[in-house]
Amino acid sequence: MSFAAVIVAAGSGSRAGSGPAKQWRSLAGKPVLRWSAEALLAAGAHELVVVTSPDGLEPAARALEGLSGWRTAIGGATRAASVQSGLSALTISDDEPVLVHDAARPLVSPGHVLALLEALAAGADAALPALAVADTLRRIEPGQSSVTVQRDHLWRAQTPQAARLGALRSAYAGWPGPGEPTDDAAVIESAGGKVVLTPGDPALMKLTYPEDFAMAEMFAAAARVQRIGQGFDAHRWGPGEAVWLCGVRIDHDQTLIGHSDADAGLHALTDAILGALGEGDIGDHFPPTDPQWKGAPSDLFLKHAADLVTGRGGRILNVDVTLICERPKIKPHRLAMRERLADLLSLPLDRVSVKATTTEGMGFTGRQEGLAAQAIALIETPA
Ligand code: MG
Repeated sequence: MSFAAVIVAAGSGSRAGSGPAKQWRSLAGKPVLRWSAEALLAAGAHELVVVTSPDGLEPAARALEGLSGWRTAIGGATRAASVQSGLSALTISDDEPVLVHDAARPLVSPGHVLALLEALAAGADAALPALAVADTLRRIEPGQSSVTVQRDHLWRAQTPQAARLGALRSAYAGWPGPGEPTDDAAVIESAGGKVVLTPGDPALMKLTYPEDFAMAEMFAAAARVQRIGQGFDAHRWGPGEAVWLCGVRIDHDQTLIGHSDADAGLHALTDAILGALGEGDIGDHFPPTDPQWKGAPSDLFLKHAADLVTGRGGRILNVDVTLICERPKIKPHRLAMRERLADLLSLPLDRVSVKATTTEGMGFTGRQEGLAAQAIALIETPA
């Protein structure tokens, strides 16, 4: 089922301590906002609006750098006003689902999204994840000792919360008060809609206090796995005047022979990424028998492998390529190669390594019959 999403990231979050607001801070190496934005896009959101204060436009752009498919809207003084601003910015039709989410709950998974969409498909007007209250609750009335509150039938509401766009917009417009609604399900309810609970998740915790970050880091670690892959490639030298290595053209008195541009560095690296994903090898994705890949720039192959990682909701952590040849000298081109790979993979330069070695005259590389390349890639995907 197609859906859109709104992430409310307009709060200043003063309870989480001093410094930048919590949605811009780093959680397990990634800005808090980016966690849920990536997760919602990976789960299939075809429109994503991030609602922020005017001051938040720049940090939001920084937090989501390199990610496509999102845009911003300016929020209001309350969560309700911010949600309405986000809903106004959507262009989906009225009967399509929208998920409204708080940036302070970074650890959304595709399973949470699917459960919400299924609840709407089954006839709910709104759906939200909720957890039964496990602790005994006590209430303190001013000037009195505390009393136990019956916790039976009490649930903790989480986000994202789902409703159909038209119904949610009109329910917000008709909110009767008093006060402001604190979530979207309450708004649908006030308009007479049926609200259904889906299974909540401790990992959907809200970052409120400084100590919440440590717990979220643990949930984040449990929700992600790191995978490693390696690749190897070799091509034969033949007559020519230049060679492509790691996406860089180098003038040379020979060239590498192959069906594509024979860039062994890019081929080894593509195989390393495919290996980390368990997605076979470059030949499975781009058969050498297929004429459309004749002379193809190998950038295409690497981009394809990187897109497969993103499509799984994952990211590449670092890559390392070793070129094995007597000639040409690689060192003068090494920085250009790293910059090219960093650009192709949308990685910072320090996550990309290119090294070179000779084999001291031994073997096929030593006899200068061919050039070999090996590569390793570390990626991270949802568990
Ligand atoms: Mg090859």
